[in-house]
Amino acid sequence: MTQQSEHTSCLIIGSGPAGYTAAIYAARADLKPVLYTGMVPGGQLTETTEVDNFPGYPKGITGPELMEDLKAQAERFGTQVRFGTATKADLNSNPKRIWIDETIEITADTVIISTGASAKWLGLPNETRLRMNAGGVSACAVCDGFFYRGQDVAIVGAGDTAAEEATYLSKLCKKVYMIVRRSEMRASKAMQHRVKNTPNIEILWDSVTEDIIGENAVEGVVVKNTTTNESRTLNVTGFFVAIGHKPNTDIFQGQLNMDELGYIDVVGGSSKTNIPGVFAVGDCADKTYRQAVTAAGSGCMGALDAERYLAASGAH
Ligand code: NDP
Repeated sequence: MTQQSEHTSCLIIGSGPAGYTAAIYAARADLKPVLYTGMVPGGQLTETTEVDNFPGYPKGITGPELMEDLKAQAERFGTQVRFGTATKADLNSNPKRIWIDETIEITADTVIISTGASAKWLGLPNETRLRMNAGGVSACAVCDGFFYRGQDVAIVGAGDTAAEEATYLSKLCKKVYMIVRRSEMRASKAMQHRVKNTPNIEILWDSVTEDIIGENAVEGVVVKNTTTNESRTLNVTGFFVAIGHKPNTDIFQGQLNMDELGYIDVVGGSSKTNIPGVFAVGDCADKTYRQAVTAAGSGCMGALDAERYLAASGAH
């Protein structure tokens, strides 16, 4: 039930690098943006440890610290950052209408969607525990692979992401076990070829992960071969999960054009969606790059597109 209603010229939904960067630009353009953080303020980066690949931090920075810095920078120029999750949207109305936690209705001249994507996990109890404690479980080889230089690691998945990340890890690590649940891979033929021809990648076909061993850090992974029913322990220190991501776009289904996986379609080279005044930035519209810095760059584009839209419509 709506208890409160409010209007803004620029509503930003989501608080990852894309959302906060959009906020910095929108606030500096005097759009007085309102940003709702979603359930996980700071987004996926708050679940990583060191971030060594965001430009401007020569000594690295932790994911949570980076997100606090981006939030402070957005607030410095007047962004109202609020805790809350968009639960319903009517993007075809004018102004657009968004409901936050079912209770607050925001009407907005422009909406910048930066709701991100969530990595899928296996759901094993020790996977969750070690992931939360930064204990060697990760869904991003490009972000965290560096920490396992010269060590043995395992990666689960058989799609293009898993194949790409296994190849990436093979350049840093001594040995990479690729745990594939079927007897074939979903990845493109070219990626499969690359994986199969990399000497330090060992593919474990028809295999499922039974458990991850280790109190504070990964010490091993128990894998079962489903054709022989035999289990073995891999002595690895890093465990990567690459079984896909789910873009957080459910509430926009049926209104915004999306691909079959739910990634929002944007007009090439911009953040424009099929609805004028609605822009999509960051991982909710990008299944290819998925990096903090590319998300931040697209957040900037979203704010500039919103500003131009408002100027052209005479609203700003
Ligand atoms: P996909 O959905 O394509 O692949 C997911 C993989 O994880 C599948 O092999 C699937 O197995 C496996 N999997 C799913 N659940 C489990 C589970 N519980 N346990 C074990 N394995 C599991 O996701 P991707 O992230 O790889 O790719 C997403 C999209 O992005 C694709 O369209 C891909 O082509 C694209 N992409 C393109 C790239 C490029 O062109 N350079 C790079 C990366 C991604 P199964 O096959 O048995 O279902």
